[in-house]
Amino acid sequence: MQTCDKLLLNATTIDHVGGVHEKQAIAIDGKVIAWCGSEEELPPEFRKIAQSVEDCQHKLITPALIDCHTHLVYAGNRADEFQKKLKGATYADIARKGGGILSTVQHTRSASEEQLLEQSLPRILALKREGVLTVEIKSGYGLDLENELKMLRVAKKLGKITGIDVITTFLGAHTLPPEFSGKSQAYVDYLCNEVLPQVVEEGLADCIDVFCESIGFSLAETEQLFLKAKGSGLAIKCHAEQLSNLGGSSLAANLGALSCDHLEHLDESGVTAMAKNNTVAVLLPGAYYFLCETRKPPINLLRDAGVGMAIATDCNPGSSPTTSLLLMMSMACHFFLLTVPEVLSAVTYQAARALGVSERKGKIAPGMEADLLRWAVQDPAELCYYFGYPIQHDTMLGGEWITV
Ligand SMILES: [Zn+2]
Repeated sequence: MQTCDKLLLNATTIDHVGGVHEKQAIAIDGKVIAWCGSEEELPPEFRKIAQSVEDCQHKLITPALIDCHTHLVYAGNRADEFQKKLKGATYADIARKGGGILSTVQHTRSASEEQLLEQSLPRILALKREGVLTVEIKSGYGLDLENELKMLRVAKKLGKITGIDVITTFLGAHTLPPEFSGKSQAYVDYLCNEVLPQVVEEGLADCIDVFCESIGFSLAETEQLFLKAKGSGLAIKCHAEQLSNLGGSSLAANLGALSCDHLEHLDESGVTAMAKNNTVAVLLPGAYYFLCETRKPPINLLRDAGVGMAIATDCNPGSSPTTSLLLMMSMACHFFLLTVPEVLSAVTYQAARALGVSERKGKIAPGMEADLLRWAVQDPAELCYYFGYPIQHDTMLGGEWITV
């Protein structure tokens, strides 16, 4: 027999492509959506059986936001480096003096699990305050067995503490650790033979990711890692075509990748491979902004080919020290000329696809998890129009309104 805990009436909602619908009803049963659609078509029994009925007064209800690409577990920060850059130091100067990603590796390695948790918690809580209830977190600042496992355990604990659904990604191939300097292939073998099996054994990762780049890992090394991870049941994601075009996105897409991320240098053949394999393009406008990039991802090619586009914070200390997905939504419109409906879909439905969870998250539909936001806005475009403004909203997590 159908039961219903909450019936929301008179809501404005968005669908999976960001289309707006007025006078909608949403029936919630336990942790999931039982029914949704036009109020006129609401089966009458829901009004009778609902434990509570709320008039949403035309307010906008969206699925909770999903941040599908972050590196938010790390220790220390790179504010000192930022100041050096402002004074004209180049990336190479900074790296020579022990800065750059390896300084974050050093801080992360020397932090205890508790310290790492304590430093990362404010970042995930900041996302939660904005309405982000699903977050992907990558490893990649440990770069050895002990510290990669530590990062992934911290990521999982953050989910437990905050109630946020955390999807974890093993990014051991983020950069070469100093002890493997000049021995890239040996490091990839170490990851495949020693680290990855343990990550899988302990159930610490849902996905694998590789930084496939001239300053990262080669196409052949990327393929070796992907094949090994795929054989262990992990889903594939790829940092591809950020600084040059190595063909990482074609490789990843042809192996069935969930997403390819960054993509500033993506070409037509990469777009075609992604379209053919339903791989999502994850765009990271925060890194584009912070690195003062001028080359944009090929939005028109992606759009014309029907490749789904997601947007994420890329929260990390080196190239995108932000915890605001709302700001990224504004930037995606401003820098990449995404439309408002595209952006609304990018942080809900497409982000869910990029994480392989679209069968339970990212849209308002029967059977979906009841993670919802009710926004104090007149027009959905306000979510993209404001920047640096914390837009007021109510948060529903697993069918319950919560205080964040
Ligand atoms: Zn990243």
